[in-house]
Amino acid sequence: MIEAYEPVIGMEIHAELHTRSKMFCGCAVMDATLAEPNTTICPVCTGLPGALPTINREAVEQAIMVGLALNCQINTCAGFARKNYFYPDLPKGYQISQYDAPVATAGWVDVVDEEGVAHHIRVRRAHLEEDTAKLFHFYATNDGDYALIDFNRCGVPLLEIVSEPDMHSAAAVYAYATKIREILRYLGVNSGDMEKGVLRFEANVSVRPRGSTALGTRTEIKNLNSFRALVMATAYEIERQTAILAAGGTIVQETLGWDAVRNVTFSQRSKEHAHDYRYFPEPDLPPLYIEREWVAEIAARLPELPDARRARFVAEYGLTSQDARVLAAERAVADYFERAVRAYRGAPATVGKWLIGELFYLLNRDNVAIDAVRVSPEALARLIGLVDAGKLNQNSAKAVLGEMFATGATPEAIVAAKGLVQITDSEQLAAIVRRVVADNPEQAAAYRAGKVTVFQWLMGQVMRETRGRAAPEVARRLLRNALDGEI
Ligand code: ADP
Ligand code: MG
Ligand code: ZN
Repeated sequence: MIEAYEPVIGMEIHAELHTRSKMFCGCAVMDATLAEPNTTICPVCTGLPGALPTINREAVEQAIMVGLALNCQINTCAGFARKNYFYPDLPKGYQISQYDAPVATAGWVDVVDEEGVAHHIRVRRAHLEEDTAKLFHFYATNDGDYALIDFNRCGVPLLEIVSEPDMHSAAAVYAYATKIREILRYLGVNSGDMEKGVLRFEANVSVRPRGSTALGTRTEIKNLNSFRALVMATAYEIERQTAILAAGGTIVQETLGWDAVRNVTFSQRSKEHAHDYRYFPEPDLPPLYIEREWVAEIAARLPELPDARRARFVAEYGLTSQDARVLAAERAVADYFERAVRAYRGAPATVGKWLIGELFYLLNRDNVAIDAVRVSPEALARLIGLVDAGKLNQNSAKAVLGEMFATGATPEAIVAAKGLVQITDSEQLAAIVRRVVADNPEQAAAYRAGKVTVFQWLMGQVMRETRGRAAPEVARRLLRNALDGEI
């Protein structure tokens, strides 16, 4: 029955831009968790009468960067329009947005979902607007019900990225949303911190008989503030609509919210109550002419984007596509990796393994960002070099890395201070091995009687005697010889 219907999904993504000042005034754009409420505000962003907006060049530049990264055309003549509606978080009674002349139009992104299915998703437009203030609702307190408002967010530049209805599964929606987030982070225009609300999703969902090309009636799920909510709400809505159509019913066009506690969508307003925004050109701003030289100059300094970097990591460094995917997902990680590779003589894939296996473990454990890590890429490269040169065994090297991570000391200093240099001298090791075998006659006998698992235990004793510094291959050979009586 499900197969008889095809889901169709288009997405609107709101991304706050990481500019120094707001969209139409000089107020600072602050991390919402750092600024006191209502401290970064002025007559323009609080909508006082007579205050006049001016266009933030940095915001336009970032919008152009995103437009180019999404393969869009950048309009020569863009403009702003008033979108009129009444809501307490909107002091002017209208939002300055873009209507018929957005900064960017007609782009696309290619993504591969988690099941390995490729999707080509067209981007309809990306336009600039201003964020609203933030309301905080309080219910049933000693002072009754009330709301507080923080205008710090009001006027923060917002880029809305609108896709064509080109997605046909929750998996495609997830792949698209994560790709957009990855690109925004690579460009440095948005932190991607979903829990801080700097990136917000809306999914428009409809379902149609498979084979049909007409669009079905859609519902729009607002304010999806996590990937989990996005995927669950989309999947829920596909199922709900499919069941209604299969039972011969019709879909009501409406705006929905997502109840993350009960895991259901709920109606917020129906089409009859849809807004008429009465768009008209913003009379307080001139048209926005975007010179081609400026676009070309921005295009020239666009960073290498994640997909291109991933492909290059495979081709240039011989990484597996899985490792390349992990190492290129974040620009700071990819930069770190490439710096370490430049400082290292061996195979780049070895650096990749150390980063993914060991450094990522420490970063996650202590919740440290790669930019804040005290291990420089060059120091990591030298540490791996010590392993390659036989000066450190793997386990000691991991311990040294833990110490470098904690203190920022160099690998050489830690190895010298702790006397961790690997013992490769067979004479010295042979003596230790002989002692271990002599001290543990029962275990040695058990091994000789065929209980081979005892070997690992005896190796453990050798490692203990050497405080982990024995070169494992040499020690293993000597122990085997000792047990087989040929030392
Ligand atoms: P609005 O601005 O009123 O939300 P738009 O027509 O601009 O409406 O569409 C917004 C988003 O909804 C776009 O991403 C578009 O692809 C998607 N969309 C429009 N119609 C449908 C539909 N029938 N099914 C699924 N998505 C749709
Ligand atoms: Mg919409
Ligand atoms: Zn302001």
